[in-house]
Amino acid sequence: MKEKTLSIIKPDGVARHVIGEVIRRIEEAGLNIVAMKMIKMAPAEAKGFYKVHEGKPFLESLIDFMSSGPCVVMVLEGDNAIKKYRKLMGATDYTKAEEGTIRRAFATDIEKNVVHGSDSESSADFEINYFFSELEIVAG
Ligand code: ADP
Ligand code: MG
Repeated sequence: MKEKTLSIIKPDGVARHVIGEVIRRIEEAGLNIVAMKMIKMAPAEAKGFYKVHEGKPFLESLIDFMSSGPCVVMVLEGDNAIKKYRKLMGATDYTKAEEGTIRRAFATDIEKNVVHGSDSESSADFEINYFFSELEIVAG
């Protein structure tokens, strides 16, 4: 089933110059990039994006981190894009991520784990609309 998912290359990934490497892996996996831009979030914007994590002990630090520098946000499209991209990213904790995944290769910390990917159809809908208008997404 053709799906769309939201991908973010987080500030650590941008600062460590792995934008190209992440995009290479996305393309190699057969996912199409149908929208892309670079943004620097204000803390309030990061907070709104991560509202599902309200009350979690790591939220405040996560907001600081996500608003600390530029991110690359993309909409990816393809068959089973949500699961496919989650698999490409690897587990949240990079020490538990499978060999060959983006997080295993590049993450340095459970928080600074290089990439974000939507975890369900409903979160993909919310997250894509959070950053992109319909006009910014090309027809796949
Ligand atoms: P994922 O990004 O794999 O979907 P979550 O949605 O659970 O993971 O968490 C969102 C982000 O919050 C993670 O990618 C990571 O940057 C950070 N995070 C999650 N759990 C922790 C934790 N225990 N300590 C610090 N940061 C965390
Ligand atoms: Mg998540």
